[in-house]
Amino acid sequence: AIVEEEDAPEDLKHRAPIVTVMGHVDHGKTSLLDYVREANVIAGESGGITQHIGAYGVTLEDGQKITFLDTPGHEAFTAMRARGAQVTDIAVIVIAADDDIMPQTKEAISHAQAAGVPIVFAINKIDRPTANPDKIKEGLAQMNLLVEDWGGKIQSHDISAKTGEGVKELLEKVLLEAELLELKANPDKLASGTVVEAFLDKGRGYVSTILVQAGTLQVGDYVLAGTCSGKVKAMQDERGRDIEKAGPATPISILGLDGAPQAGDKFSIFEDEREAKNIATKRSQLQREQSVRTQRH
Ligand code: GDP
Repeated sequence: AIVEEEDAPEDLKHRAPIVTVMGHVDHGKTSLLDYVREANVIAGESGGITQHIGAYGVTLEDGQKITFLDTPGHEAFTAMRARGAQVTDIAVIVIAADDDIMPQTKEAISHAQAAGVPIVFAINKIDRPTANPDKIKEGLAQMNLLVEDWGGKIQSHDISAKTGEGVKELLEKVLLEAELLELKANPDKLASGTVVEAFLDKGRGYVSTILVQAGTLQVGDYVLAGTCSGKVKAMQDERGRDIEKAGPATPISILGLDGAPQAGDKFSIFEDEREAKNIATKRSQLQREQSVRTQRH
């Protein structure tokens, strides 16, 4: 999480948890993310999420919100961490109940533990006749990871990402875990946060998905993100709707940057457009010099 020493406690408001889904290949990360994106566990919104912008927010029936990083696998997680970005509050680790605890499952567990991010296990594919969730939980216990129904403290839930069984309850457990973290941010200042992904769109120019972590981003703001800068011309949410403002824990795609920043780059807002541009230019110069130097060696 971003350190916000300058914020007075009364300025800090509750924010949604930011969740990454990790796990072994084929255990169901994409299916879970797709199910949550499309499902009617999400209240209050007609029409599903139409855009793949690298992150999306869902609202549960009771009004609580969760933000998902929509890049399954821990590559995104580690790439961001390598750039010093700590974006994830909670890791959902998907394990197929008809398989074993596999190498990438163990890797995901160590990544989450190294980052100090609490884990919620999603024991998946329980619709399959060969599913044996207890075998998975026993395996976890042998790794000193005791889940709740085995008398431990780690949340887990049996789900089927295919039928949707248990997914709502899984999300409720994620929110329970989030409550313990007391996630807060100050929405009443210039925005800062992290780049999730960025690409060049034929027609629209550079499109960057960013996650606002503190403050509120507005159309017209001057952004510095990695080696790129520019004025926010437009912002869209995961439903492709134009929006004017985005507060903490909101993923948003923005138009107007002069390049594609890298996943994990921090962004901040400047009062002065030229200042943002100058810093971006200096950073790209430094990067070029560094790459020339490494080529020589
Ligand atoms: P990923 O590699 O972890 O993203 O896994 P995918 O979501 O691509 O799933 C791998 C395969 O398992 C696909 O064929 C899915 O349709 C299937 N699958 C995922 N979740 C379930 C589930 O809960 N039940 C069943 N029966 N199949 C599932």
